Order: sequence, then C-alpha cells, then structure tokens
Amino acid sequence: MNFIEQIIEEDIQNRKNDAKVHTRFPPEPNGYLHIGHAKSICLNFGMAKKYNGKCNLRFDDTNPVKEDTEYVDSIREDINWLGFQWAEEHYASDYFDQLYLWAEQLIAEGLAYVDDQTQEEISKGRGVPTAPGVESPYRNRTVEENLDLFRRMRAGEFPDGSRVLRAKIDMASPNMHFRDPIMYRILHATHHRTGDKWCIYPMYDFAHGQSDSIEGITHSICTLEFEVHRPLYDWFCEALRIHHPQQIEFARLNLNYTIMSKRKLLQLVKENYVNGWDDPRMPTICGLRRRGYTPAAIRNFAETVGVAKRDNIIDVSLLEFCAREDLNKTAIRTMAVLDPVKLIIDNYPDDQVEEMDAVNNPEDPEAGTRKVPFSKELWIERADFRENADKKFYRLTIDREVRLKYAYIIKCTHVVKDDAGNITEIHCTYDPMTKSGMPDSNRKVKATIHWASVKHAKKAEIRLFDRLFSVPDPDNCEEEQTFLDHLNPNSLIVQEGWIEPSLTLEKAMAIKHFQFERLGYFYADPDSTEEKLVFNKTVSLKQ
Ligand code: ATP
Ligand code: MG
Repeated sequence: MNFIEQIIEEDIQNRKNDAKVHTRFPPEPNGYLHIGHAKSICLNFGMAKKYNGKCNLRFDDTNPVKEDTEYVDSIREDINWLGFQWAEEHYASDYFDQLYLWAEQLIAEGLAYVDDQTQEEISKGRGVPTAPGVESPYRNRTVEENLDLFRRMRAGEFPDGSRVLRAKIDMASPNMHFRDPIMYRILHATHHRTGDKWCIYPMYDFAHGQSDSIEGITHSICTLEFEVHRPLYDWFCEALRIHHPQQIEFARLNLNYTIMSKRKLLQLVKENYVNGWDDPRMPTICGLRRRGYTPAAIRNFAETVGVAKRDNIIDVSLLEFCAREDLNKTAIRTMAVLDPVKLIIDNYPDDQVEEMDAVNNPEDPEAGTRKVPFSKELWIERADFRENADKKFYRLTIDREVRLKYAYIIKCTHVVKDDAGNITEIHCTYDPMTKSGMPDSNRKVKATIHWASVKHAKKAEIRLFDRLFSVPDPDNCEEEQTFLDHLNPNSLIVQEGWIEPSLTLEKAMAIKHFQFERLGYFYADPDSTEEKLVFNKTVSLKQ
C-alpha cells in the first residue's frame, strides 16, 4: 500500500467526506499529455476505481494565451485510450463567475486588495524568505475603493499589467506564497471557451482549490512542487468557508534521456526537431501510441514505478521493459528481413512454391497459424551470414548448417561477390527430410534464421528509432548550451525491408502490433498505404 492509499483508507475508516473518494485529473490544455501525465492519470483514476469513487477530468484553463481546443481534444482522446473514463468533465473557466463572486467576498471582508504596483515592484516587495517583505503602499485601501477598482478591472477600464488583486495575508511569512499572493490579473485576451467575456483571469492558486471544492473533490492529488502552495490552498478554503479537499503531493515522474516540460516539447514540435506531437520519439501519449506502446504497457509502467514522496529519476529502460512484456503476450509474429541479402537454394526445384505453416503467437494458442510462401530464392538478414566466422558465431557460414524458420535445414556452399567485394548471393543446398513432419525434422542445428521469399515478399518502410537525446539528463547543460544541443542526430533511421506477402494494408492496420521474429516489436504506422506499408520499431526483443 502506498502512502496515498494509507491516507485514503484512514479517511474512509473515519468516515471523512461520508467515506467517499472523489479525485480529479486537472491538465492545463496548453500541450499534449506525456508519460508523466500518464502517471498522474493512472494514480487519480486508479484511486477512484480502487475505492469505488469517482474521478473527474478538469481542464485547468485559466491562462487563455497558451490554451487551445486542439489540446482539449487530444487530452480527452489520450485519457480514453489509456483506458479511463471520467465521471464528470469540467472546465475551470466554467467557474469564473463563482470565482469572481468569491473574490468580491474576500474584498468585502478586508482579505483582498487591488494593488497598482508593477510586477517588478511586487516581486521586490516580497523580498527573500529570510527577511520580512515590504507592504504595498496600496495595501490599506478601503473596502469601497477596492470593490470599485476590482469592478472596473473586470469592466475593462485598465490595461494589461496595470493592476492586480492580491490576498491580504502576511508579508512577513517565511512561506513566500503567503506574502499577499496575486489572485487576479488583467489580461485582454480571447479565451478558447469564454471568448471575450473576461479581461481578468484568476491565478492558479485562486482557481485550483476552489475548483476542487466546487466539484466536491475529496483528495486533490498533485506533484511535489505544489507542496509549498498547500498552506495557501488551505487558507482560501478556510477564508471562503467552503468544502475543503485535502491536497496530497507525490513525486513527479522523471525519466532519463527524456524531456517532459510542455514548453520544451512544444519547442521541439514548433521548430521541427521532430515530426509533430505524435512523433514516435516523443514522450507524449500520442507519440508512445504511434511508437507502438499499448495502454496496458503504460499502465503497468505507472504501477511499477509506484508513488514516491521524494523526487527520483526512473530509467527509461523500465518503460521499454513494460512494453516488451505486454507485447510478448499479444503481438502477432511475422517474418521481415530489414537488411537483405539473397540466399539461393541450388537443389530446390526452380518453380516450386510451398506454403509453410507459421505460428502467429506461441504465447497464445488461440492466435492460430498462417501460411508463408517458400521458394528457391529467399531474402535473409545480411548479419545472419559471415564469411569468416569465429567460434562464437553460430549462424550461417560456408559449410555450416542452420534451420530456416518453419522450413528446412540448409547448408551453405559458396558465395558470389560483385567487383567491389560485396556479397550479392549466398548459395546453399537444402535437406528435404528436415521439414516439419518429415523424418529428420528434429535434427538439431545451432541456429534458426528468418527469411522472406524473393518472389513473394512485399516491400515495406521500416522506421528505426533511438533515444531522442544522447545524454541521460538533457536539461543539464554547459553555459551557452540548451537541451537542443543534446539531441541525438541518429534518433531516426529509415530502412526498406521485405515482409510476408499476406500482410495487406487492411490486415496490418487491424492487427497493429507485430513481432518481427528475432528483430523486435513493430507497429503499423498510419502513413502506410496499399503500395507501401510503414512500420515503427517499438522496442527490441531484449534489452
Ligand atoms: P508544464 O510542463 O507546463 O509545467 P504540467 O506538467 O504542470 O505542465 P499540467 O497540465 O498542469 O502540466 O498537469 C496536469 C497534472 O499532471 C498535474 O496534476 C500535474 O501535477 C501532473 N503531472 C504533470 N507532469 C507530471 C509528471 N512528470 N509526473 C507526474 N505527474 C505529472
Ligand atoms: Mg501545471
């Protein structure tokens, strides 16, 4: 049991909130969700599910400048894809009227005032944690004057940045967030939902807790950086005498070799370092989906990482491990040759074609079998042959036998090279008695290799990915450098390969997840066409 479950179970025992559990996931619609958000989603929806409660989706849309409905739509899609359904969908902007009334209430009670200082003056007045700050010269305005100015702020009489509404708390508090935090700022901007109705917008601290309260949230789970905001969260709930949810903080997910700041991910997209938010190298949910990650793999990852109270860094290979584990159970096996060289079976009849039985998934008998055409000329991987093989190389070399998967044992006889010395043909003979069902089918050889029939195979584009960043901590930069200087120049390699002919566009898009035997897990990319299938490498078979 993690510490959040402990808190919730204690609350249930004490019948706090009538023993109900109501959580929420509160994204700001200013970007696409990433694997860190997935952690938060699994936690919030997971707690609601475990304790028969509810989880809301709330768009924290209080900053009109950076927000957009494109992001709202993608967030909804990604949460659904991860396998979660929200009880209610809300928008902080739906609460703007209520928040405004609450602001007036605090003004009327002498707990908020309009400050005419500039942003710089306000920051300067706050001072440093070790010494008291300086009170604003506008701090002791009368209630009437404050109400009048705040109403005129709302009415649009003042330009951006000319005034703010501040809570009147304690300019000497050691917690900087208590030093008269800003509640409202003037912003003449069009909001993606409320249009031009408002030209003042509430700050996070005056919107988040109140939104939680309005929705009857019981446990407001957030990341550690909000721990210092908690006293303020509590203060506003108490001052307004409204339902008081409990804020609980946990350590955000950090992954090595990965950037998770939405601002930086946006920069990668805007400046074309990647091909959009769903580029398979991105740590976004849509990127991981296009890479071939499954919802179950991501949920298992979130579960395995657990819930921590202290910041830590998770190795990205754990995410890859979770993908492998899930795909091994579900992915349909296929033979594909990505770096082909021609193998010719000299004693195989010229025009003969055999349909070999291949198993779709050894982990799942119900996945059935399929036929793969076999003929005299095959593609095999260049790396599966070596002319000068050392003792540790068990695959094909001259005078050595290997098994062709689902087919025969062959023995290499000689190779043909071009003028430059590159091998263009590998010649071999086959033993007809070694096919499955034949007398010598159980004869042991040291290696089995995969293949594709030259006459039948289909060409496909294969996209191979490496980590987007070449260092574990891309944010850790020398002077004059940025995270962009750590981009891995070889993070995308495009190859052409040969795949089994039975894979039509329709079939590939329906099955989606494949294990290319001996090579790794691959995902049928939406760029695929009837003429050319495109596959993204999800992960290799082994670490
Ligand atoms: P930004 O990158 O712009 O600071 P954010 O990561 O705070 O954005 P939000 O949309 O505000 O993004 O996040 C929604 C929820 O997801 C918040 O509750 C936040 O705490 C949580 N969250 C964001 N990043 C992570 C992370 N890396 N690990 C766990 N939870 C996260
Ligand atoms: Mg945020």
